[in-house]
Amino acid sequence: MPCPPQKDIASWNRIILSETRSRYSAWSLIRGALSNQRHWRHAWRAASPKPAYDIVIIGGGGHGLATAYYLAQNHGIRNVAVLERGWIGGGNTGRNTTIVRSNYLYPESARLYDFSLKLYEGLSQALNFNIMLSQRGLITLAHSRHDLESMSRWANAMLMNGVDARLLSREQVGMQVPFIDMSGASRFPILGGFSQPRAGTARHDAVAWGYARAASDLGIDIVQNCEVQGFLKDDKGIVGVKTNLREIRADRIGIAVAGHSSLLANMAGFRLPVTSYALQAMVSEPIKPVLDTVVLSPATGAYVSQSDKGEMVIGAGLDHFPSYAQRGSFAITQSTIAGTLDLFPSFSRLPLLRQWAGIVDVVHDSSPIIGSTPIGGLYINCGWGTGGFKAIPVGGWTFAHVLATGKSHELSEPFQLDRFVTGRLIDEAAASGIAH
Ligand SMILES: Cc1cc2nc3c(=O)[nH]c(=O)nc-3n(C[C@H](O)[C@H](O)[C@H](O)COP(=O)(O)OP(=O)(O)OC[C@H]3O[C@@H](n4cnc5c(N)ncnc54)[C@H](O)[C@@H]3O)c2cc1C
Repeated sequence: MPCPPQKDIASWNRIILSETRSRYSAWSLIRGALSNQRHWRHAWRAASPKPAYDIVIIGGGGHGLATAYYLAQNHGIRNVAVLERGWIGGGNTGRNTTIVRSNYLYPESARLYDFSLKLYEGLSQALNFNIMLSQRGLITLAHSRHDLESMSRWANAMLMNGVDARLLSREQVGMQVPFIDMSGASRFPILGGFSQPRAGTARHDAVAWGYARAASDLGIDIVQNCEVQGFLKDDKGIVGVKTNLREIRADRIGIAVAGHSSLLANMAGFRLPVTSYALQAMVSEPIKPVLDTVVLSPATGAYVSQSDKGEMVIGAGLDHFPSYAQRGSFAITQSTIAGTLDLFPSFSRLPLLRQWAGIVDVVHDSSPIIGSTPIGGLYINCGWGTGGFKAIPVGGWTFAHVLATGKSHELSEPFQLDRFVTGRLIDEAAASGIAH
């Protein structure tokens, strides 16, 4: 389905709501209280894989689940399975720092990510599942005159692309983030910055569960503990997958496995311009509200927000070497904590509660890949690197279009694999966040 005109997205979300079968509401809570909460059913069916489907999606993260949902919702294709080797949302979708934004530089990226943010703005209604979207704004800090100049160019590009942006003076940053160190005594003094007011956070698990529930309601099979271990081929291309449970045939197969994309591509017989790195994050013990926006500091390599529970959520940069070890290197942990304390010296008294990492798929121009592969019947959605949580709605929307029609979507057209042949790269290294 092409993207609806921007002003119609809200009404389109209402249409989906009216078609969703089971609803969460205050009334269902009251009814549950009267019946000892026995009326709840599983949010999604535990499906066993059938021998064949129209479409199989490999990977039950946000992108795979959203793709399945939009295949059913937008294209009426319901004979679809999502195969997840672990549990849904157990990959990067359940490991990220939950930031959503659309503050990119190039028009192609602005269109893609802002459409995603607009879908996020109506997603709780669309899925009838509270994804806890909090548009608290994101401030990117400038620590040098060079930062100030490049950020004014960046913010102007956003405004010209129709995305909200606001340049901030040093004083405005200090007023919006009262706990930040404005003394000028730190290694990275703050000279100003810019914000995207519509950016913010959303609950990552809820995004995965909301899409899973809605997709399952529409008849999609979600199969957990089902690992794809190989492909079935004929002379035209891929015709199915070999899994630990059984062989499954399909007319079209979509890969959405983030950091493991190169491994799946290798199994299928082609190479991707993707490098896999560990990306880590950590949270402190919860405290009372002190930070009501997201603060990102490219120079220190740290970004911070406060979760609804009160934890300080601290995001880091990529490890300096490729790896599949879901730990994150200590050098990055250390430099991220140092950078955070440079910005917020008072946080030095906070105990850290947890640290973790996920394996992200970084493309050399820091932009995603959505579209066909050199192998017949096989399609791919990958390369979101450090920033694919915010893109789950648009990744699912456009990948569903590709799988349903065999053609690229107008939003994903510039993000196909063939850009590495034509040279039309979209280099978002500067705007893709902290890590690359
Ligand atoms: C620490 C960290 C912080 C981040 N912070 C942000 C942020 O603030 N904002 C943002 O926008 N993005 C962020 N990201 C990036 C974001 O999380 C990812 O880009 C996004 O979640 C990717 O979603 P996905 O569905 O493609 O992948 P995943 O959620 O990783 O899902 C892929 C799934 O494929 C499954 N799989 C793999 N191989 C197979 C196989 N052979 N067979 C079957 N299943 C398989 C995996 O088990 C996994 O569940 C962060 C990432 C990390 C690690």
